[in-house]
Amino acid sequence: MLLCARYVLPVSRPHIENGAVLVRDGKIVDVGYSTKLKTMYPGEETRDFGLAALMPGFVDAHTHMQSSVMRGLISDAPYAAWNLLLAEKEKLLTYEDRVDSSMIGALEAIKSGITTVADITHSDAPLTAAKLSGLRGIFYREVGTLERSEVEGALDQAFADIETWRQKTDSEKIEIGIAPAPLFSSHPQVFKGVAEYAADGTPVACHLAGSREEYEFIRYGSSPFSVHSREQERGFGIDMPPWLATGVSPVRYVLNWGLLEVPNLLAIHCVQVDDDDIDKLAEHDVAIAVCSRCNAQLAMGVAPLSKFIEADIRVGLGIDSPAATSSSDPLVEMRIALLLQRALGSRSDFFSATQMVRLATLGAAEALRIDDKVGSLDIGKCADIIAMDLSNSNQAPTHDPNSAIVHTATQDNILMTMIGGEILYDGRNHLHDVDIQRVFARAEKMRLKLKG
Ligand SMILES: [Zn+2]
Repeated sequence: MLLCARYVLPVSRPHIENGAVLVRDGKIVDVGYSTKLKTMYPGEETRDFGLAALMPGFVDAHTHMQSSVMRGLISDAPYAAWNLLLAEKEKLLTYEDRVDSSMIGALEAIKSGITTVADITHSDAPLTAAKLSGLRGIFYREVGTLERSEVEGALDQAFADIETWRQKTDSEKIEIGIAPAPLFSSHPQVFKGVAEYAADGTPVACHLAGSREEYEFIRYGSSPFSVHSREQERGFGIDMPPWLATGVSPVRYVLNWGLLEVPNLLAIHCVQVDDDDIDKLAEHDVAIAVCSRCNAQLAMGVAPLSKFIEADIRVGLGIDSPAATSSSDPLVEMRIALLLQRALGSRSDFFSATQMVRLATLGAAEALRIDDKVGSLDIGKCADIIAMDLSNSNQAPTHDPNSAIVHTATQDNILMTMIGGEILYDGRNHLHDVDIQRVFARAEKMRLKLKG
């Protein structure tokens, strides 16, 4: 199939005006000017999107699709309070709820032009949703306990689950990894155990240095977050938590427990980092998922993105939990990231729209070490391609497609989402075999349960 549009954005190189992409057997076979490709492949079925951009699908470097049904539930609380309230609400969900909640997330992802997700989860519900919806992804089995005596059992269970998940998924589209639970919910031996397990290259993702509360908990052992979380876990009236101040930053802390040694580590957030931390992350070739909208929503701060890039760290954008961001819209994510960085930065590290598009696609693919397969429109890569409408009154005229995409588009502008050569969304309808009405009816039932 020959896809044509006013703009083709390979991302790995400058955009092509009046371009085309040839897709065959799920792969990108050619990219170039449409007149040339039409002449070269005369019999090819052609689809012309007009004043639109064809580009690689977005790679969401960090999400929790399972939390989709929680969107808007706790929308006016800072990180620690939000996290604790959310944990309580999550207990109300059954496995069936989690699958349907994940399906809502998968459907939104595909509708938003996201073709790959990197999802942290403790159940296989998001994996099931990805399989049913056709989404590509890396699913990190979360593991964590604060009790030393429970660490071995928790790790063994996680390793067993990873094997089972690997066996029941299509390895072409789905990869399985492991995620130690956040620093304030994990005994340090969990990090050691994960580091040993993932020395073979198993993908690892870890929330790291996100909130001020986490930073203070690790460094000083005395944030309201730690006291509250411990009291909540053990029942009110218990003494102070059994936690000693470590005196180091969160990055140093996981470094001390060996986590930075793993070959494929994605650190999520990295807001509360200093120059030494950034040096350590760079030295160990740790990738970072920057989640600007979530960090802003939960008053976590702003990650020093330009410093990451200066240090040659692999960086991608992540949208994070819909329970925080409400919508999983990569276009809003890019816009917020760009404007926050410009607002706080200086002219010397001024971010361009082109850079943001790269961070949401190829940059994220590099961060996840899947850029050999996805992230750009290059010959031989998987045909994970989206078409974005740029013909609306708020977009005309389009002088530069990258700028129009970042500053004017939203998820409603997606005209097509293709994953592995298969069109899963055509701008109006999901084409995969999913009973959408049933899923949304279930969402309403879950809403009532969560409200109570
Ligand atoms: Zn997260």
